Amino acid sequence: MAISFKKSYKFAFKSSLYISFFVVLSLLVYHNFIQPINYFILIVFPITLFFFSFFLMQYRVEVFIYKRIKKLYDEVSLLDATSLKNKTVTTDVSTLTNDIRNFAKEKKIQIESLNIREEYRREFLGNISHELKTPLFTVQGYLDTLIEGGAIKDKNLRVKYIERASKGVERLINIVQDLDMISKFEVGDLNIDIEGFDIIAEIQNVFDLLEMKADVKNIILMFDEKYISPIHVYADKDKIQQVLTNLVMNSIKYGKENGTTEIAVEKISKTKILVRIQDNGQGIEHQHLSRIFERFYRINKSGSREEGGSGLGLAIVKHIIEAHNEKIFVQSTYQKGSEFSFTLKTSK
Ligand code: ADP
Repeated sequence: MAISFKKSYKFAFKSSLYISFFVVLSLLVYHNFIQPINYFILIVFPITLFFFSFFLMQYRVEVFIYKRIKKLYDEVSLLDATSLKNKTVTTDVSTLTNDIRNFAKEKKIQIESLNIREEYRREFLGNISHELKTPLFTVQGYLDTLIEGGAIKDKNLRVKYIERASKGVERLINIVQDLDMISKFEVGDLNIDIEGFDIIAEIQNVFDLLEMKADVKNIILMFDEKYISPIHVYADKDKIQQVLTNLVMNSIKYGKENGTTEIAVEKISKTKILVRIQDNGQGIEHQHLSRIFERFYRINKSGSREEGGSGLGLAIVKHIIEAHNEKIFVQSTYQKGSEFSFTLKTSK
């Protein structure tokens, strides 16, 4: 730690002046009453005294203050404040005040971010246990009825209950997979492997994969037009497939019977395309739009759970798109339908 004495002479100067003045006064009184006056002593002695006391006082004050301040710096550096690390110890009060103010600011920010993280951790844990409880109790309920309630002996009930328990387990697996993915994103552990691929073929894959689910509600999965030639994009193919799957899956889950899910791919600039996924389902009320990308945020909690949702689908979608440095948008009219869209690069 370097030492710099920024001289502040005021105090020493004033004190020395007072001392010298009183000494002159005492000498005058002494000489007037007791002895004849000696002008040499009267002038030289106070001047010498002034300089002597000035330097002595200045030195003492600075060493005293320096020691105290150094101790303060040392104690504060123990707290690992970057604003005070490698700082020159100063006896200048305004520099010191500034340093301490910066230190306090730095600590305040750290405490605030720790509080936010703590809140986030508590909320996350609460949400996870809540999400896992429902399917776990469902599975346990069916297994208990089978074993203890004797349903295992009834062939029809047996198959029905085992199928329901199996659905519960499937839901648990979905939740755990989503949790795994989102926590990897949130600790920055998921890499994006950029490659060139045809987005039209990828959308068709997702349509094929979800066709059976759409059929249950008689929902048609379609393109807005016939795309004859491929449209190449540069992105992480698997993760974009996950984005498309989550968005198309939602359009089915929250779509109406006999509805449609339509995907359009639009060129919006020389290097960008916009993929739009539009449904004519239940739509989203305006007040929910800004929150639907939050983890575990659902509009209709029981409805979403019945549909097997973990409440993490859109949070994952947003993470993936943002990890590509791209943007995701949502537009919706309640009871008319929703449109989710995201951008992708068409060149490296
Ligand atoms: P979930 O597992 O609940 O589907 P998501 O994160 O995928 O979780 O979606 C969050 C909420 O956003 C859903 O619970 C639903 O209310 C709403 N939502 C998502 N997509 C749509 C859509 N296409 N139409 C209407 N509501 C939707």
